[in-house]
Amino acid sequence: MECIKCRVYEANKESGLCDACEQEELCRINGLLYLPALGLILGIIGGAIELYSFTMIAFNYFNETGFLSYYSMGAFAFLICGFIVSLYAAWLFFRRKKGTRKAMIAYYATGLIIALYLTVLPAILFDAQQDSDNIKLLASGIFGVAIWIPYFILSKRVNMVFCR
Ligand SMILES: [Zn+2]
Repeated sequence: MECIKCRVYEANKESGLCDACEQEELCRINGLLYLPALGLILGIIGGAIELYSFTMIAFNYFNETGFLSYYSMGAFAFLICGFIVSLYAAWLFFRRKKGTRKAMIAYYATGLIIALYLTVLPAILFDAQQDSDNIKLLASGIFGVAIWIPYFILSKRVNMVFCR
């Protein structure tokens, strides 16, 4: 039987692909890697929305009161940093660059730091109540660090896919 993709070479029984096409398939962003890919896209969209709405709220508040707290300035700086890190990680990820592993680790680590800053810190400082959005943000931050950082460190596929 010939390879189902290139239709030139003899296929391996299990995959239906020849050796060369199997190798090519291994170097693609697929399977489990769809999840961090989706996470990055949603993270960039969510980060942009969050940055925009936070800026509008802080701007209105500043216009009314002429005052901006250190906490708000810090949150603004964190949100901008997080957004830049996510753009950079996505750029490396989708171009399958070598630096993707480190960039993704930085992406998940900043995600958790920002989540902690926006949820746990106000709870400590101002006794703020946690709503479901906050809990979701914190859960996804913890999930990223607990699941995806070990995955990007340990996975052998990461070495094959992100090798440009
Ligand atoms: Zn083939």
